[in-house]
Amino acid sequence: MVYQAKQLFQLITISNVNPKMLYGQMFDEGDLDPEFSRRMDGYKNGSGTFRMNVALSELPDFTALPGKDSAEHHQCGIVIAPTLDYMDRAYVDAKANGWSKHPIVEMLIPSTLDDSLAPAGQHVASLFCQQFSPELPDGQSWHDAREAAAETIIDTVTAHAPNFRNAVVGKMILSPLDLEEKLGLIGGDIMHGVMTLDQMWAARPLMNHGDYRGPLKGLYMCGAGSHPGGGVTGLPGRNAAREILADGK
Ligand SMILES: Cc1cc2nc3c(=O)[nH]c(=O)nc-3n(C[C@H](O)[C@H](O)[C@H](O)COP(=O)(O)OP(=O)(O)OC[C@H]3O[C@@H](n4cnc5c(N)ncnc54)[C@H](O)[C@@H]3O)c2cc1C
Repeated sequence: MVYQAKQLFQLITISNVNPKMLYGQMFDEGDLDPEFSRRMDGYKNGSGTFRMNVALSELPDFTALPGKDSAEHHQCGIVIAPTLDYMDRAYVDAKANGWSKHPIVEMLIPSTLDDSLAPAGQHVASLFCQQFSPELPDGQSWHDAREAAAETIIDTVTAHAPNFRNAVVGKMILSPLDLEEKLGLIGGDIMHGVMTLDQMWAARPLMNHGDYRGPLKGLYMCGAGSHPGGGVTGLPGRNAAREILADGK
């Protein structure tokens, strides 16, 4: 098996999937050094993101800034996280219960800037919601809890824009588990691995493998699971390209 893997990577292969998926799911047992596999097994994932996309019959009419005609604030990132205490409570609630009754919700309404996205007068919005635990208490599955969590999110927006609930004419729900199953984001982790100090810099994804190289020659990592981590920076790819070119010399 190791031989086959070595044969396979005579060609250069560059991966931007989560390192845990690459080394945990894309190899047969025995292909990799067991010690490396054990360490990769401990690579932590789980940024706790819940994502919804909604179709709206009208724009949200915010209590703080009334009006259903497209205004500047509809074209901005709208974050429902009024205080530090609110955010702290969302974090603590998620640890205990999976998610908070008062979650952090960030809404974008791209159809206010691009009218090709929805029929005239109607809109699409994305709801990026944080502090949703990848693991639910008491063995619950996100597949059973996703609708209830989505309702909490709709309630949260409706508390600030009373017409919101009735304006929702369609919705796509992506729980942390949906993000994993549909997009390969393990633990719903949008950063391909928790961005804690023990998984950053030279230790991303693992100590001795922070240089875009894993244990197999010719197989490189170039995604958010390598330095400097997640976000739309292009930097892991740029750095990986530099290393690949250096090896080519
Ligand atoms: C909802 C959401 C909101 C975000 N918001 C922000 C933001 O506001 N600002 C910011 O900077 N960053 C944000 N991010 C994070 C940012 O998008 C990621 O960190 C970044 O896209 C990672 O880029 P990547 O190329 O490493 O991986 P990805 O963009 O995740 O690409 C990995 C690719 O691998 C593919 N794949 C998965 N499994 C397999 C498989 N088995 N076989 C083949 N291909 C597979 C996937 O389909 C995907 O195309 C957000 C992410 C999400 C999901």
